[in-house]
Amino acid sequence: MTFSIHGLAVARGIAIGRAVLVASSRVDVAHYFIEPAQVDSEMLRLVQARDAVHGELQSLHDTLPKDSPPELAAILEVHLMLLHDEMLAEGVTHWVKDRLYNAEWALTSQLDVVARQFDEMDDPYLRERKGDLEQVVERLLRHMKGEAHVVPHVSSKRSGQSRQQDLQLEDSMDVPLVLVAHDLSPADMLQFKQSVFAGFVTDVGGKTSHTAIVARSLDIPAVVGARTASQLVRQDDWIIIDGDAGVVIVNPSPIILAEYGFKQRQAEVERERLSRLRHTPAVTLDGQRVELLANIEMPEDSPAALGVGAVGVGLFRSEFLFMGRIGALPDEEEQYQAYRRAVEGMKGLPVTIRTVDIGADKPLDRAHKEEAHLNPALGLRAIRWSLADPAMFLTQLRAVLRAAAHGQVHLLIPMLAHAREIKQTLALLDQARSQLDARGEAFGPLKIGAMIEVPAAALTVKMFLRHFDFLSIGTNDLIQYTLAIDRADESVAHLYDPLHPAVLRLLADTIAECRAQGKGVSVCGEMAGDPALTRLLLGLGLRSFSMHPTQILAVKQEVIRADASRLEAWAQSVLLSDDPAELMGL
Ligand code: PEP
Ligand code: MG
Repeated sequence: MTFSIHGLAVARGIAIGRAVLVASSRVDVAHYFIEPAQVDSEMLRLVQARDAVHGELQSLHDTLPKDSPPELAAILEVHLMLLHDEMLAEGVTHWVKDRLYNAEWALTSQLDVVARQFDEMDDPYLRERKGDLEQVVERLLRHMKGEAHVVPHVSSKRSGQSRQQDLQLEDSMDVPLVLVAHDLSPADMLQFKQSVFAGFVTDVGGKTSHTAIVARSLDIPAVVGARTASQLVRQDDWIIIDGDAGVVIVNPSPIILAEYGFKQRQAEVERERLSRLRHTPAVTLDGQRVELLANIEMPEDSPAALGVGAVGVGLFRSEFLFMGRIGALPDEEEQYQAYRRAVEGMKGLPVTIRTVDIGADKPLDRAHKEEAHLNPALGLRAIRWSLADPAMFLTQLRAVLRAAAHGQVHLLIPMLAHAREIKQTLALLDQARSQLDARGEAFGPLKIGAMIEVPAAALTVKMFLRHFDFLSIGTNDLIQYTLAIDRADESVAHLYDPLHPAVLRLLADTIAECRAQGKGVSVCGEMAGDPALTRLLLGLGLRSFSMHPTQILAVKQEVIRADASRLEAWAQSVLLSDDPAELMGL
């Protein structure tokens, strides 16, 4: 039966493929494809975990105190039975052998399949056994997590597999796969970055949640905030993701499939057309030069930035080097090498490295998320986190300074609000320089910038400009904090409004003050990459935009069609309007 699910459109385009479900589990589970050669060792990990859990349950059973209630022994027997359940074992083997899922992913996928069958049972006693099965699987997962097991990178493209493996995967190889999950952490998304998915859908998340941002950087159609999608969609269902409309169509009829196939081809033609603008200078009709920069998450993203003609990196979100790791944070050498790769990858163009912005919806891992402050967006995040751990921060500052010996590097500090934080940050930067001097280590000059992400900062721009060489406006957070809307919460997504007059006022005043003082200012939030807002930002005086490489050509098209001086008066009228969106016809 065909049905559709509505969510939020976060990454454009149409994807058509079979659903791959990432089941949610209470235990943090890594999801990645293994190489065919790893199948046996993956199966062995499962067997070892099963044997260990068997031993654990058996010894619990055998050592129950004499006076314990008889139900306890019965429950443990049920758990032992479920541990050896054939359907569980066969299913897990299928996911590992035929689909090349890692063991943990295979377990949670099969749990999902079996749990649905329990849900459909008439007998209430049997229905309740679902909870027992979940506990057994959780025990298995915890056992596997206890292993010193490093999450490998997502396996290389499946097209690189042997012919024999191709045959094994024949039913799934030929069709694109789309990922459906309750939630994906930004770290999960990075894992999927080099993988095979043609699109993805999540139940939760807002338009500028970090998961959505990474999706946009992958340039694959995506819908977030689709609420119950992961429960409604079944493994292997055919689905269409309409990333422009924010709609997911499940089990489409042949007519709908044909219609979307047509739309998909049209989008490809449009993409092809835009790609011709790659070498066109970003200059408005009235001759104003506009700087179009790239936002990147990893040094390996720099070729994509160069490929679309970015004139530098306006935001390197360094926290992605820190996330999804098991054990220690990256040390100075590892960070230095990563920043250096980004700098060298940009072939002499400037690279703006933002210091780590951990916290809120970018926890280091899920365990930290659970411990996190109740309202993490207002808690120990970004520069607050860095200043709370000076040794960690100094390590990052030294690494950035060293990378600056290899090219033009700008340092960008997120989420500042207080003069005190600015002073502490600059003092630590001086200390990092002295430490490198003392070691006789080479380092280069840095331009230092602050992000304007908190209304308090936007209202004290003059103070910021006394200390910094440039400012970069993080509209994603500026909107969140101005309107008191959690950017990751789909239930308030309809109130997240980049065109709210208060947001526009803060933006306009920040840009105007920087221009008046001759200091550089850019926007690096998602607003910069939205072609529907390019003319407004130009009219407000913005000449530097930083966005995902995937957005650059569409924004460039707007720039070269715009007459910036004529847009000024219009932008002022938008600024004064009660309903800017209506005035702009959006
Ligand atoms: C922003 O807040 O606009 C920004 C660019 O930073 P991030 O999205 O990483 O919080
Ligand atoms: Mg931010």
